[in-house]
Amino acid sequence: MIEETEFLDLFIPGPVNVSKDSREMMTYPMIAHRSKAMGDLHKDIVNYLQKMLFTSNQIILSTSSSTGLMEAAIRNCVNKNPVLNVVNGAFAERWNKIAAANGKQNEILQIDWGKAVTPNQLQETLEKNTYDAVCITQNETSTGVASPLKDLYKTVKDNNCLLLVDAVSGAGGLETRIDDWDIDVYLFGLQKCMALSPGLAVASVSDTALEMAKKTPNRGLYFDFLDLKKYHDRNMQPATPVIPIYYQLQYKLHQIVDEEGIENRWARHQQLADYTRNWAKSKGLSLFADETVASNTVTCINSIGINVAKLKADLMKKGYFFATGYGKFKESNFRIAHMGDRTMDEMKTYLSTIDELTE
Ligand SMILES: *Cc1c(COP(=O)(O)O)cnc(C)c1O
Repeated sequence: MIEETEFLDLFIPGPVNVSKDSREMMTYPMIAHRSKAMGDLHKDIVNYLQKMLFTSNQIILSTSSSTGLMEAAIRNCVNKNPVLNVVNGAFAERWNKIAAANGKQNEILQIDWGKAVTPNQLQETLEKNTYDAVCITQNETSTGVASPLKDLYKTVKDNNCLLLVDAVSGAGGLETRIDDWDIDVYLFGLQKCMALSPGLAVASVSDTALEMAKKTPNRGLYFDFLDLKKYHDRNMQPATPVIPIYYQLQYKLHQIVDEEGIENRWARHQQLADYTRNWAKSKGLSLFADETVASNTVTCINSIGINVAKLKADLMKKGYFFATGYGKFKESNFRIAHMGDRTMDEMKTYLSTIDELTE
């Protein structure tokens, strides 16, 4: 058994802390996956997700990590023409790997890490070729950059492409209006801004994306949007889903939509981000991300003058799990997650602990 002392306060950009009341939802008895109770649960979750995401699109629930639904998006929505992957960080690169692994033609629009693509850059690239889809990472967790979907979607649509969005560390934390912004596939897991256990992934899928799936061969079996839709129309899954996380998700969605309010949740993430960015600057540190596109769910800070490995070890002794930079940035920067159910008081305590340790 895992020791109690190993449970740290997670200031990493996912998985994040799950509140005790949310955790307790997973201890309810099991129900049959083809029962009326399960159908009602499924239907309520879909209904609340549509409210949270401002969409009337098809919602797909998948018992997989978010990466599974990235693969689904590629397999269902990229047909004869290439997919354009906008790459401004390590997670955005995952889109390429998936496209290549599935034998899809794949082109890359490389953007400086720490920046977001602009509508002009996107337009220039889309003019050069015919693409089936454009993949964008809403919130690049490795660099702390949020791409402004609101300013980008028109360019994608004007060029007759599907817009596929990895929203894993954005959904529930960043302003998102799927129908207004005409997003075809918007996918995420629950272990980041939703502050739940990993294991269930969600996607909103437009009618245009479903039409594309109809024309696209080799969609596979487990992640076939059309098969999933067929079952979802009856409030069911083709295979046995991760039922305890459904309990959790229903509970959390009611909290987010009916109690906190999704717009207030976005605003809280903004306040935590502002506080964190100001804290970094007041210490004489600089942000890795271009500030005009800095993320509201995770801040990436250049670590000049700070021994990141030592800070991580010292924070662990105080009960915190600290996030270093991602991959190649392991030493040159560090990340402060401010997502999920984080409060301002928790944020202040954590940052002042870092102050004490780096004096
Ligand atoms: C965490 C993360 C992923 C990976 O999600 P999994 O649920 O582990 O598959 C993908 N993209 C982004 C932007 C992430 O932050």
